[in-house]
Amino acid sequence: MQIPAKVEIIEVCPRDGFQNVKDFIKTENKIKIIKQLIDSGVKRLEVTSFVSPKWVPQMSDADAVVAEAKKYAKENNVKLIALAPNKKGVELALNSGVDEVSYVLSVSESHNKKNVNKTVEESLNQFAEIAQMKGTASLKLAIGTTFGCPFGEEIKTEKIITTAKRALDEGASEVILADTVGLGNPALVEKIIKDVTQEIDPRNISLHVHDTRGLGLANILTAMVNGIYRFESAAGGLGGCPFAPGASGNVATEDLINMLESMGVKTDIDIQKVKEAVSMIELYVNSPVTSHMSLLL
Ligand code: ZN
Repeated sequence: MQIPAKVEIIEVCPRDGFQNVKDFIKTENKIKIIKQLIDSGVKRLEVTSFVSPKWVPQMSDADAVVAEAKKYAKENNVKLIALAPNKKGVELALNSGVDEVSYVLSVSESHNKKNVNKTVEESLNQFAEIAQMKGTASLKLAIGTTFGCPFGEEIKTEKIITTAKRALDEGASEVILADTVGLGNPALVEKIIKDVTQEIDPRNISLHVHDTRGLGLANILTAMVNGIYRFESAAGGLGGCPFAPGASGNVATEDLINMLESMGVKTDIDIQKVKEAVSMIELYVNSPVTSHMSLLL
């Protein structure tokens, strides 16, 4: 099996995991979990999103979370990431002092309309405007519904490629191929990754999959043997999208580390420390932890 010696895991639980939790998680408890995740050895951590508090009240403390987490992140050489769905959000994220901002769109027109009320073209035009104001921060484009649309719209690989290319041309450091509602399967992932990597350097790609139908690890493995080596996952397998019906958890970081390390692929993340973070999540967050590794002692 063609496997890399090492992969990078980007932890997204405090954003993707928490955004779907109804009961507000106290900022101080979010910070405790974030610090524990930093202790696990992760080097890039998505901590919040700058969205309207009317839409996602859970993220209304975005500024406070970044302010509180920044010092500890810096001391540990960890880059903080925030997600933003529009220009206002990006401005707020940049002002908060995060190192990286993920601007999100969906290649599915119907999902993009529902999620951010724009056509894909309008989102890309806004991305170009945003790229002008990023300063020293890294700007990434998260491309949602890459492997399937919850409204049944057909996703053309050509559109994924042109969207990714445009973002990189505008100054994106990375594009994130996101399986927003877990509709991907290994055959589809292989096909899309093979086509996309013919046009785009894998060093500029990361993969974000949801485990909605239990295919998360299989999809990651397939992407990895096809040359992708940067993956987003969430401690405890939390996650979802408030505007994508049926979206459930991300692949659990601890399950991903277990698969990779047992295959001999290095992650440089301490699984025990991630499991301690998961115990804190169980204590402070009213959302079920769904990972396999959290069930083992
Ligand atoms: Zn997600």
